[in-house]
Amino acid sequence: MTELAPERLDHFMARANAAYYARQDPFADFTTAPEISQIFGEIIGAWVAVVWESLDRPDPVILAEAGPGRGTLMADARRLTARVAPAFHAAAIVHFIETSPRLRAEQARRVPGAVWHDGLDALPDGPMILVANEFLDALPIRQFRREGDRWLERHVQNGAVIELPGVPPLNVPEAEAAMEGVLEVNEAAEVFTTALGHRLKTHGGAALILDYGTPDNPGDSLQAIRARRPAEPLAHAGEADLTALVDFGAIARAAEAAGAAVQGPVPQGAFLSRLGLFQRAERLAHGRPAEEAAALMGGARRLAEPLQMGGLFKAMAIVPSSLPPLPGFAA
Ligand code: SAH
Repeated sequence: MTELAPERLDHFMARANAAYYARQDPFADFTTAPEISQIFGEIIGAWVAVVWESLDRPDPVILAEAGPGRGTLMADARRLTARVAPAFHAAAIVHFIETSPRLRAEQARRVPGAVWHDGLDALPDGPMILVANEFLDALPIRQFRREGDRWLERHVQNGAVIELPGVPPLNVPEAEAAMEGVLEVNEAAEVFTTALGHRLKTHGGAALILDYGTPDNPGDSLQAIRARRPAEPLAHAGEADLTALVDFGAIARAAEAAGAAVQGPVPQGAFLSRLGLFQRAERLAHGRPAEEAAALMGGARRLAEPLQMGGLFKAMAIVPSSLPPLPGFAA
């Protein structure tokens, strides 16, 4: 076997996920909240419409989504805003941040008239409300480990971890750097959030981040999912979805350092329940055949129950400055 040069873990993960999202059908391997229940996208549609009101109804407004997957969340949100918030619906221009050509084609089928970009920096200036569900967890991470008085950084070579001398970024809090075990750094997620905070501060708007994560350094959380089962993350680059837990403390600090303010994170279950998840599920279930009604209620529970997606998943808002709590963020 030829020896490949060691590749830094984040470079490996970026390459593997670009290949994965370009070629595979991710939704054969894993399911996300908008694919579980239409109510998820509808609640987010209601959230963005209310936030638009509190921003004094900018017209036009950029309604952006990062990593829209199949476009299901936005399609459900747009269906709701067309009905209950027509002024917002007409003012909003949908912009997608998506690198996979395959998923762009799927998104175009569900959300006609959207505009696509490779990154946040390509979006036009102006007030923006951005949503990102399970986007940051797909961005590449770095991992470090302390050995005596030196730091090692994880690399990948021939499908296995190899540790080479390397120094963690300076913005890692000292207390976290002093902990035993693996120090995991969501550097790309921090870069994205810094740019987002800066943009919101400059042009106004708000962002809603939903993802699974922890309040601080999660340790080694790299995982691969293939065919709905955990897989070996380093073995088959591009054939499995690689994700890591989002370090919400780190992305909150990144947004704040850019001059923005954050609300939350709060558990996804609390966020969705406060916004009427179960009332909506009951209303939709009413009068439907028993099987459909049970599926609607089961989907809502799966999103909200602490031991399912309601606890590990969190919601966090980023806003230009300290504001009264946005919907779902007040206790
Ligand atoms: N939000 C969707 C999909 C989550 S999967 C849902 O909830 O169902 C992650 C999404 O992010 C996919 O659409 C993937 O193509 C996109 N993505 C991953 N890395 C990206 C990157 N670096 N830049 C832009 N999009 C990316």
